[in-house]
Amino acid sequence: MKTQVFISGGGIGGLTLALKLVQRNVEVVMAERLKAKAPTYKGELLQPKSLQIFEGLGLYDEITARSNEIKVLDMLELSSSLQVRDQTFMDYSVLPGKFNAAFMVHHEELKDILLKAASEYKNFHYMSGTSCTGYTENTALLKAGKEKLEVEAEFFFGAEGRASVTRKHMEVDIKQTAYNHHFLTVSFPRPETFTDGQIISTYNRFLGLFPLPDNQVRSVYLIPEGDYKELKEKPISHFHKLYTDLAPAMDGYVQQLTDWKKIQLMIPVMFHAPSYVRDNKAIIGDAAHAVHPMAGEGMNMAIQDADILGELTADMIENHKKNPENLKWYEKVRYKRADHVIQLSHLAALAYSYPFKPVSFLRQKTFERMEEDPILHFKQMLNVSGLGMWKENVRDRFIQGGIIPVRLRDLPKKSKELRYYTREDDYPWKDEGLI
Ligand SMILES: Cc1cc2nc3c(=O)[nH]c(=O)nc-3n(C[C@H](O)[C@H](O)[C@H](O)COP(=O)(O)OP(=O)(O)OC[C@H]3O[C@@H](n4cnc5c(N)ncnc54)[C@H](O)[C@@H]3O)c2cc1C
Repeated sequence: MKTQVFISGGGIGGLTLALKLVQRNVEVVMAERLKAKAPTYKGELLQPKSLQIFEGLGLYDEITARSNEIKVLDMLELSSSLQVRDQTFMDYSVLPGKFNAAFMVHHEELKDILLKAASEYKNFHYMSGTSCTGYTENTALLKAGKEKLEVEAEFFFGAEGRASVTRKHMEVDIKQTAYNHHFLTVSFPRPETFTDGQIISTYNRFLGLFPLPDNQVRSVYLIPEGDYKELKEKPISHFHKLYTDLAPAMDGYVQQLTDWKKIQLMIPVMFHAPSYVRDNKAIIGDAAHAVHPMAGEGMNMAIQDADILGELTADMIENHKKNPENLKWYEKVRYKRADHVIQLSHLAALAYSYPFKPVSFLRQKTFERMEEDPILHFKQMLNVSGLGMWKENVRDRFIQGGIIPVRLRDLPKKSKELRYYTREDDYPWKDEGLI
């Protein structure tokens, strides 16, 4: 079989990339190892930049109609006696413009929407139950059951997640950072009125609640590394109590989980591949970087990679500029953005990693100052949203640390918008006439 682009892996990243390419008349073959829906939980929070990208793909209305909008993340810090000691907010509406909210969507449902949209194009060829096992120079080697297949292509993109065959073939080595904690994760019914995200912590406990559509809520509960086995031996009522202690609003709801089997262990890791491109091959999403789930960025980074690589490849093919060297534009745009998000997520993870009262006190003060200082608040939401990048400077750190007072004056809307990535920032090769 011959094609222009071969994509290994039909997760959110691979499917977004495929849709982008087929909409631009590029011939795409995609191999997806699984035949049926994945049984595991994965990312479900869509950040504003992802919504902007889906609008460009004509899917904004469909995706938002099947999601729960999150304007505000409530951060509750509880005392040892589980009373609310402090409450702060991370508010997406500090971002001017249409894309000023996050959306929670069931992961498999989002995959269905993307696959259905791509399948409407005759130039999209989807092979489910087919694994990519390796490559020769211009051929992908595939396996479907006992059958072996080969696909010849001009470009090969690895979107297979953390254990990427394409990354291995490119001889790009990664160095993983592990954390001192794991998470229990599960979705269950929620009260209808519980629609904002909530992060509830004490000095030694953490529960994140992210409302999904259909009156469901996705939860993540932090446990020390190695505690899972022992926890699973306890009656399920022990799990219910861990939740209702911190979130009394979930009483009567979390109890609808009656079996530990539904509750999954999530092991956070962090890595950033030193490069994304080699010859006519590139990696995107979790194949290129893994990020601590605290900031809800993993799936969004895959979507943002797909947007840049897809636009670039379509331009290269359309303009007959197929020299693989041009793929380096993708890395140039995405690498530093991804690195910043990885660092932010890592810092957020560290803020909850140490079960000591002074750490909890510092965390609470930092969030308070972020909420009081409109510039810090905007920076935080901008960086999380993916719409732009504005790194914190020494002055910001001093404000966060309480060394100098907070700024009270907000930025005008125009100045905020100047911080958003422009079309030239996203696709710099276009206007410089480089491709
Ligand atoms: C268990 C788990 C829980 C997570 N929870 C969260 C969360 O709560 N919040 C958050 O923000 N992020 C979370 N993430 C991260 C987030 O889901 C990912 O960042 C996101 O899904 C990355 O998308 P992707 O398309 O790059 O990779 P994936 O979603 O991993 O998709 C890769 C696809 O490739 C297929 N595949 C793999 N190998 C091959 C092969 N050799 N040939 C063909 N196909 C192949 C797989 O079956 C899969 O469909 C989680 C990740 C994991 C693994």
